[in-house]
Amino acid sequence: MYVAGLVVYTISFVILLVDLLMAIFKRKVKHLRFFTLLMLVSCIYALGFLLQHLSFNSSELLQGSRVQYLGAAFVSPMTLFFIMDFCGIKQRPWLTVSILIIPIITVILVFTYPFNGIYFGESSFTADPIPLLTFSGSVFRTIYFIYSYALMLVAFILCIIHRTKRDPLFKKHSIYILVAMAIPILGNLLTAFLHLFPIDLTSAFASIMGTIIAYALVFTKIFQIAPLARAEIVENMQDGFILIDPKGEFLDANRAAKQLFPAFEYATIGLPLTDLKTHLWDSTGQLLQEFSAETTSGTRHYRVSSNDIMHEGRALCTCVTIYDNTSVRELMDEITHMAERDGLTNLLNRRAFCRDAEKKCRELLRYGGKAFLMMLDVDYFKKVNDTYGHLAGDEVLRFVSRTLVQRFRATDIVARYGGEEFCIFLFSLTAEQAAEIAEGCRQQIEQLSILFEEKTIRVTISIGIAEFPTSSDQTLTALISKADAALYKAKSSGRNRVVW
Ligand code: GH3
Ligand code: MG
Ligand code: MG
Repeated sequence: MYVAGLVVYTISFVILLVDLLMAIFKRKVKHLRFFTLLMLVSCIYALGFLLQHLSFNSSELLQGSRVQYLGAAFVSPMTLFFIMDFCGIKQRPWLTVSILIIPIITVILVFTYPFNGIYFGESSFTADPIPLLTFSGSVFRTIYFIYSYALMLVAFILCIIHRTKRDPLFKKHSIYILVAMAIPILGNLLTAFLHLFPIDLTSAFASIMGTIIAYALVFTKIFQIAPLARAEIVENMQDGFILIDPKGEFLDANRAAKQLFPAFEYATIGLPLTDLKTHLWDSTGQLLQEFSAETTSGTRHYRVSSNDIMHEGRALCTCVTIYDNTSVRELMDEITHMAERDGLTNLLNRRAFCRDAEKKCRELLRYGGKAFLMMLDVDYFKKVNDTYGHLAGDEVLRFVSRTLVQRFRATDIVARYGGEEFCIFLFSLTAEQAAEIAEGCRQQIEQLSILFEEKTIRVTISIGIAEFPTSSDQTLTALISKADAALYKAKSSGRNRVVW
């Protein structure tokens, strides 16, 4: 048993020493500050075990015990500090100091024994030649034990809580940490309470923990700054980011995506997307190209893109990115509006009218149906300008256009064709109805009293109407010239009338 203990303690100590040296060697890597400290205290702890095992009298045993507690007292706090750092929890000086109070008292008590009278240096060494020292039952030792386990438990819980919140990379890393942490806790429980092993294997378990973390450090490079920084950037970027596995199950979403779709906040990994009631996918499961959402800052427009992340020829997962496209969209809307609207009346301009009318003509030719084009011109408009001024003329044009917009249906195309000339393309009605509408329109304008700078202006309009399509005319150009000819006739035959 003595030889077995010697072998176990020596190996544990050497392994922890190697882990410590490696941590020191790689100290530039993130999170290693506390891992180095953890390995340092574990190393001292294991050395204490070894010294006790090599003791030949109770004085030597006490020295070994002192060394053991010098390390052991700080294993739990350092584990907690390491996990806090790993999870990105800010260390606060007052918290750090308070966590260290009990370990420091422990060390003081152990080092001032036997003068303080509190026996602390319990040892479970049963091997020859030192007889087993029995535990004296000090209350402080119980406090110390409970405290150490509590810190380990807090560290463990912190790691689990942050696992559910963080990116997949962190999740992978935390597996190592959780497994590594569980080993010494379990080992200690089995040794201290169940007395499962003939010798105390806690330091051996600690060395396994250190080695797992060190392995992760060297071979999986889990703590390297770049991937963590990248993950941090993705988490905090303005664009939404969602990871989906090839089976269409949820993997991960960043903060922006969760803000847009709160369903992701509570989604667990592996949840089918169809169970997530988000409007990012349509009823057939197709990803939307773009969508709009109401936010506290008004309506925002988003563009969605999806990329398969390939690895060794197969899709590992799909990455959906949601860009906030609002400013571009607003700018585009403004440019489009400026390009197709008339600045004075806000009606469609001639170009937009021709584009829309052209499209309608094609539809009519293809699917059948009748339409009517009204060309409308303000009579003696030059006189209005000359009598009341150009601004008054503008006001008249605004009045006329407002009247037209109110009178016609949203499906009709109403446009300012030029100066004081307007075009209205009417659909789904008979020639009689069109004639009635044109006449009603003429009468309404005739009855308008336009107030401008305390003067009342009255105007009349002439209207020329043409039908589309006819056997002879099947183009928009022909339609416009026919309506124009009718308008000319209306003018030449006295104005303020409708002519076909
Ligand atoms: P008619 O009955 O034959 O149509 O006579 P008219 O005076 O209305 O026609 P004419 O084509 O001789 O004059 C049109 C006038 O409309 C000339 C132009 O200065 C004026 N006009 C064109 N666009 C605007 C505008 O945006 N604002 C104002 N105030 N006047 C305009
Ligand atoms: Mg005119
Ligand atoms: Mg004119």
